[in-house]
Parts: sequence; structure tokens; C-alpha cells
Amino acid sequence: MKHELPPLPYPVDALEPFFDAKTMEIHHGKHHKTYVDKLNAALEKHPALQAKSARDLLLGLASVPDDVKGAVRNHGGGHYNHSLFWPTLKKGVQPKGSVVDAIAKQWGSMDSFQKAFGDAATGVFGSGWAWLALNKGKLEITTTPNQDSPLSLGKEPVFGLDVWEHAYYLRHTYNRAAYVQDFWNVVNWDQVEKNYKDALKR
Ligand code: MN
Repeated sequence: MKHELPPLPYPVDALEPFFDAKTMEIHHGKHHKTYVDKLNAALEKHPALQAKSARDLLLGLASVPDDVKGAVRNHGGGHYNHSLFWPTLKKGVQPKGSVVDAIAKQWGSMDSFQKAFGDAATGVFGSGWAWLALNKGKLEITTTPNQDSPLSLGKEPVFGLDVWEHAYYLRHTYNRAAYVQDFWNVVNWDQVEKNYKDALKR
């Protein structure tokens, strides 16, 4: 089984003016595609691993053979993280649902949560992700370097924000904080709610 690039679930300009069309086109069509292609190439010599989903590969990263562990971590992680990312983006969805209630309960308010998440996202040194994740049933804000997945750390991601420069440099240049601010305008809280409910069941 070859891994495949999932189609972007909206036109590349759907998130304008917050996330620009050119960035979305390159980010999905080039960066994400490269993770998929390099994951497939790395698994060519490992037919048993080819049958596994990216999710299962990352959950079992510790037992992946050494000669492909790095490729699975980086390219499998890149494929999984971006596949999770695209559907959580949509303009004009108001925060609502049980996940929003859980956030308010844990952080006091959506504003406090967004401040804490933003601090985590801007604080990632170099390339990586900021996450809202479920850790043993409790929500937490966490970060990972590069394309590392929370799955490999025993945590279920609910949503993540890609803070690689490739995600924002064309529109926001050096200003990652401005990109994080714009992100709050394109969070698809309906998808986040679905991810949260799925994560609770796992
Ligand atoms: Mn990316």
C-alpha cells in the first residue's frame, strides 16, 4: 500500500487573507507531497511496514527498524501531521462544542488558552509544531520539534499548528506571532470537536 497525498479539502485561496493561496498551494502540493513521497521511498525495502497506516507507524515508532526509523519519524510524521492539519482549517467557524467547554474549564477562558497556546507556538525554537493534545484523558498544550508526532509520545493530538517557516514566511515573513494570531481566524472548531471526541475514545 502506497501512502497518498490527501486532497486539500478546500480551494487554496479559501483561507485568505489569513493564510495566503500561494503558501497553501506550496505547503500542500510540495511540502506535504514530499513527505508522502519520501515515506513511500523509505518503506520500499520494508513490505511489512507498507501495510501500516502513518498513525500506526508513529504509534509504534520505537519498534520500527533503525534503518528507516528516522524516515518514518520525519516523513511519516510530516504526512500524518499535515493530514491532521488541513481539515482543522476553515474560515468563519465560531468556537463551540464540548472541546471548547473543556478548554474553558482547564484554562479559565478561550483567551487564556489562546495566550498559552500562542506562547508555546512562538516559543518553538526552529521548526516544529504546537499542539492541543490529550494526555491520559487530560488536555494539554505541548510542542514537538521538526515533524515529531505527539502519538510517539503517548499523546493524542486534537489539533496542531505548523510553525515551520514554510507555513507562513510568504505572508508573515519573520513574524510568527502574527501568523499565530491569524490562525485563530481559520480554526475549524467543528473538526476540532470531532478530533477531540475521537481522541477521547482512543
Ligand atoms: Mn508544514
